[in-house]
Amino acid sequence: MPDLKEATATADAAWQNDVRQGVRHVRDLERLPLSPAERAAAQAAAANHKVRAPKAYLDLIDWNDPADPIRAQVIPSPGELKQAEGELDDPIADHAFSPVPRLTHRHADRVLLFPTYQCAVYCRFCFRKESLTSIARGYTREALEPALAYISAHPEIREVILTGGDPLSLPDKALAEIAGRIEAIAHVRLLRIHTRVPVALPSRITPGLVAALQGRLMVTVVTHFNHAREITDATEAACRTLRLAGFVLLNQSVLLKGVNDSVEVLEELCRELMYRLGVKPYYLHHGDLARGMAHRRTTIAEGQALVEALRARLSGICNPVYVLDLPEGGGKVPIGPCHVEVRDGQRWRLRGLDGKARDYAEVVGEGEGAAVSRSDASGAS
Ligand code: SF4
Repeated sequence: MPDLKEATATADAAWQNDVRQGVRHVRDLERLPLSPAERAAAQAAAANHKVRAPKAYLDLIDWNDPADPIRAQVIPSPGELKQAEGELDDPIADHAFSPVPRLTHRHADRVLLFPTYQCAVYCRFCFRKESLTSIARGYTREALEPALAYISAHPEIREVILTGGDPLSLPDKALAEIAGRIEAIAHVRLLRIHTRVPVALPSRITPGLVAALQGRLMVTVVTHFNHAREITDATEAACRTLRLAGFVLLNQSVLLKGVNDSVEVLEELCRELMYRLGVKPYYLHHGDLARGMAHRRTTIAEGQALVEALRARLSGICNPVYVLDLPEGGGKVPIGPCHVEVRDGQRWRLRGLDGKARDYAEVVGEGEGAAVSRSDASGAS
């Protein structure tokens, strides 16, 4: 039986091999089974965002299908070169709410912490692509000093969200160091990790990675699956490892035209996430105003029609909340269809999941506390 050191070395060799045999630079597009015209278009389109995808993720692509939903997420497309009016470098104002480098503090009880601006896979739709290009730096202990000092000085912060860049693209040693430094801040209760690694590089979810994150803090891993084709034996094993470690698993997807903008695709994705991976579908994001992404954005009305149909097909636990992360740091707001048709005081007319409207009259008694205090008051008079 291999000892732990040997097992860790074998596990690390597997994911490192996956990375090595994948696409790591634009020049690696040469190795993919693209036609000369497709390759030239992809190389030209890579001008505004880096290119990277591990072999395991590339292996999911059906290269005979130019509209393959996995391919659409990682192979640059000419649409990226067309920047539409209204698109933004920083769609949700990360920088405007950044009091110190590598930290965004938009809501009182939580912060985003950016330990790295590098990822295991570069998604074409990424709304942080400008930061990944312009900042691009990886993790150093010193780079996080001001951010950790800021968290220490703000006792209202309960949750630290590691995002980026992809935090799970870091080595175990760096992850353990970061988790340990956050854990040492007594008022922090929860460590959240936003990552595409379980999707695109599932072999990276090793016992060593899990051990690096385990400790005092409740850990929530928010994965980013966008299509049921991303759910494989390998991603299932990765999510099982994370679940068995005691981590809470949630998923956020982005609604992407040509990738997952159909009821059938979203239904299958949400069911497989919950039933096969044990990952709760959490958010379905409307496409942010990231530059060069107009070709992948749906309208909000299209998104609402999709989630209305999903709501009728899926149980509550399988249904994500359709949200828009507002520009200027307004936060994520639910933008699903409204089921209230009319309200007249405490009388409501609401549309059911079957599409029929029904009346609902509120029946609200006085609280027991109110009744007691009134009788007390009358007894005293
Ligand atoms: S892994 Fe996340 S941060 Fe990195 S490119 Fe993809 S969406 Fe952006």
